[in-house]
Amino acid sequence: MIIPFSLPIIDSDVIAEMNDTLTNTGWLTSGPKVLVLENEFKKLTTAEAVVCVNSWVSGAMLMLRWLGVGYGDEVIVPSYTYCATALACLNIGAIPVMIDVLDDFTLDPTKIKAAITSKTKAIIPVDIGGWPCDYDQIHTVLNDQEIKSKFIPQSPNQEKLGRILVLADAAHSVGANYKGRPIGTITDVTVFSLHSVKNITTGEGGAICLNLPKQFDHIEEYHYLKALSINGQTKSAFEKNQVGEWKYDIIGQGLKVNMPDICASVGLAQIRKYKSTLLPERKEIFNFYNQEFSKHTWAILPKSESEERISSFHLYMLRIKNITEEQRDAIIQHISSKGVGVNVHYIPMPMLTLFKNLGYQMDDYPITYKLYANEISLPVYNGLTNEQLQKIVETVIEAYFSVVNEPRH
Ligand SMILES: *Cc1c(COP(=O)(O)O)cnc(C)c1O
Repeated sequence: MIIPFSLPIIDSDVIAEMNDTLTNTGWLTSGPKVLVLENEFKKLTTAEAVVCVNSWVSGAMLMLRWLGVGYGDEVIVPSYTYCATALACLNIGAIPVMIDVLDDFTLDPTKIKAAITSKTKAIIPVDIGGWPCDYDQIHTVLNDQEIKSKFIPQSPNQEKLGRILVLADAAHSVGANYKGRPIGTITDVTVFSLHSVKNITTGEGGAICLNLPKQFDHIEEYHYLKALSINGQTKSAFEKNQVGEWKYDIIGQGLKVNMPDICASVGLAQIRKYKSTLLPERKEIFNFYNQEFSKHTWAILPKSESEERISSFHLYMLRIKNITEEQRDAIIQHISSKGVGVNVHYIPMPMLTLFKNLGYQMDDYPITYKLYANEISLPVYNGLTNEQLQKIVETVIEAYFSVVNEPRH
């Protein structure tokens, strides 16, 4: 029995929705289905406005562009995340300023203040594995008068905001909650990823949720961002295709990052049953792993539920006490040899060639290294059977005892 690490949902609902798009709409790129998907995200999150795009990273770049972030500006990011968090900044000319994380993998709010300079324009906290950051603490730091007085606005939107923007990297956390409120409504901007390995997927895609302060008009910003996502064009090809609607304008230097209707169809079929079925199934998988690994003192279980935070159960980031990075690699080797797909989230950015060459050093982020060195992500996806879950647990336990060379107990 081979158990892959991740599998996208391609079920009869997805096929039916895709079939409807291909058979009945006569349209392939951004059109009616994307609008329905945006509406479904609004319902799921209660965000003020939602703009769907073709990936998380293009959504983040679009929002940084919207804010007028550019060459030489700084954006604070955690050192423990997927590289896209930092690439969204680098690709628009900004400098990602990395800070270390807490033991639960989320950005350490006490490290923010020292990282802020007069060039800081935004911060991108990451809800890693689906576990929300402590947003109240992050907001408290940013609303400090001393911090606010350092902010030098250099664009109309920066002027209007009057402080550092919080752009949540919620690539993992669709459906998660922070203090009883859905992720998507906690920060100025939240971007979900709809990439194939995420909880809801459109193959490739992203969803931008807006909850800007009251000086912004969400309907106006929605229409502006929709234009910015198609080269700054005021009408999509679908709108221009209506008889007599040929005239348009280019109102800003946009990107070409719109989501096609073909992709939206896949996500639509999933989001409609996300809260009722897909998310509870992920939670059950977490519960099973928690129940089995809590019997072992060497297992450090990932955080997934507390009074204040509920995960979206995206990644089961198991950690193993008192092992080295080499032992972790050997455990993974053993697990893989038994046909079970596991993964490591993430190789810290300062260990990757691009970032090393830019001067980032692993020694500056000791907690990130500590977490990385003994982390193993286990499969979590809809459709995993009890038999498969039992095999995964059994294989991990067997691999642990074989590598640490302890008699099994
Ligand atoms: C997947 C992921 C992204 C990138 O998402 P794309 O949609 O592929 O651009 C960004 N951040 C994190 C933490 C991710 O896991």
